[in-house]
Amino acid sequence: MQGLMQDWPLLVGKVFDHANTAHGEQEIVTRTVEGPIHRYTYRDAYVRSKKVAQALLKLGVKEGDRIGTLAWNTYRHLESWYGITGVGAVYHTLNPRLFAEQLVYIITHAEDKFIFVDLTFVPILEGIQDQLGCVEGYVILTDEASMPATSLKNAICYEGLISDHDGDFEWAAVDEKAACGLCYTSGTTGNPKGVLYSHRSNVLHTLAANGADAMGMRAADSVLPVVPMFHANAWTIAFSAPAAGSKLVMPGANMDGESIYELLENEQVTFSAAVPTVWLMLLSYLEDNDKTLSSLRRVAIGGSACPQMMIEKFQKNYGVDVVHAWGMTEMSPIGTLCTFKPGMEKWPAEQQIQQKLKQGRAIFTVEMKITDDDGKELPHDGKAFGHLLVRGPAIVNGYFKGEGGDPLDTDSWFDTGDVATIDELGYMQITDRSKDVIKSGGEWISSIDLENVAVGHPDVAEAAVIGVAHPKWDERPLLIVVKREGSEVTKDEILSYMTDKIAKWWMPDDVVFVDEIPHTATGKIQKMALREQFSSYELPTASQAAE
Ligand code: ADP
Repeated sequence: MQGLMQDWPLLVGKVFDHANTAHGEQEIVTRTVEGPIHRYTYRDAYVRSKKVAQALLKLGVKEGDRIGTLAWNTYRHLESWYGITGVGAVYHTLNPRLFAEQLVYIITHAEDKFIFVDLTFVPILEGIQDQLGCVEGYVILTDEASMPATSLKNAICYEGLISDHDGDFEWAAVDEKAACGLCYTSGTTGNPKGVLYSHRSNVLHTLAANGADAMGMRAADSVLPVVPMFHANAWTIAFSAPAAGSKLVMPGANMDGESIYELLENEQVTFSAAVPTVWLMLLSYLEDNDKTLSSLRRVAIGGSACPQMMIEKFQKNYGVDVVHAWGMTEMSPIGTLCTFKPGMEKWPAEQQIQQKLKQGRAIFTVEMKITDDDGKELPHDGKAFGHLLVRGPAIVNGYFKGEGGDPLDTDSWFDTGDVATIDELGYMQITDRSKDVIKSGGEWISSIDLENVAVGHPDVAEAAVIGVAHPKWDERPLLIVVKREGSEVTKDEILSYMTDKIAKWWMPDDVVFVDEIPHTATGKIQKMALREQFSSYELPTASQAAE
């Protein structure tokens, strides 16, 4: 017997319908790429996104067509997402930090028909347009007055494009399982792989990721998504903030400590989300300039492990609650968030911080398990660690055009490539990426744990740990450090700082100082490049073992 409830398709356009009717007066504030602060309301954004949809139809865009966006978090980028999905086309976010060849690969692999581009990134596209045969035109996200002189073929001014339309438009009634967004994973090995979100997966994920015990945004919140829309679906915030009716504060191109601080204070931001590097910049700005935070209550931190000192500083010095989060492009992207279960609020401060270092509990719609190398499930005791597998309606089923093969096992579990523990209460903690874990004498050492301890040293600006070949132990950890400016810290000082914080046999065998640590386009430490750079590095302990 079938239920007797309405068939209300889960389309992302419904999110903006709701923002318009229930929260039409709520503000969206943007630091524009051109410079000034721009403000308007959800009602304004709604009408303009419909104009984008009308303009796309006039340009000949059809259901299922891919439209690239190479843009910062701004109101125009937001309108574009809703306009694109509103005609049944697919927004394809392009990460400007990718190398030119990678951009050429993903734009041509996705067969983007048009690309919406910010002024900042016009030169990138000018440099590669000869290789982008599929692209019919470039919509420059600005007004007539700021249109640049450009060699881009068929360059269209965004404001000019939408001004021809009246916004009287019904979203296309596509199937809720139709493609809606496309984002390529950085692909540290092989070609980037396209993760193709559907309307349904985006809407379900929006609801799940914004539960009260997850990101928990409300209409009374002012939300600053520093996480870019071009990386990992902006952690759903482009959908979940409008669904909740929260004020949206879009940071545009400026992610430095001072710019973020200015927005946090001027717009009385209560919730924000970003990767640890952004928070490091903000914390140093606050410390160097003796600033306080008057409205910020909560920050979500993920993308890489959140170091202990970051949780401590936010909480103790600024009264801001840290929510550690984990996920990946293939998971839309949120998998877990670390919020407390009953009783934990009474735990001693130190124990609470240890718990917050964990990446957290699975949100509803995410199933999670850990297995050994033979696929046998491991216990949830907080000690056993193994491959982290996930399953759910907003988790990848296959990559775009089959690139990268079938990512699922026979029971539809997706291997995240991470190694983790899960404790008795369901809190997951990442030990490492499986290819980064250090295998020493048959045991595993977590490079993440060592890095977290090392960056706690006040003279360490950044730290990376890799496994280096060792004649006796297979691999031993090498700590690579970027010193804080002007510091004269030594290897022995760092190692002695780490002594009582980690197991003795985890202690790095050596420390090297470098000027810079390489990063991927999504801001993660490029371990593969470091492993190559130090592939013939001889540890001092290697010669001792050989003697
Ligand atoms: P990429 O395209 O670089 O893979 P993702 O954002 O999809 O970009 O990266 C996902 C990976 O980032 C995860 O599989 C995990 O290894 C790492 N990661 C994400 N959040 C955390 C976290 N809170 N702690 C540790 N690692 C994390």
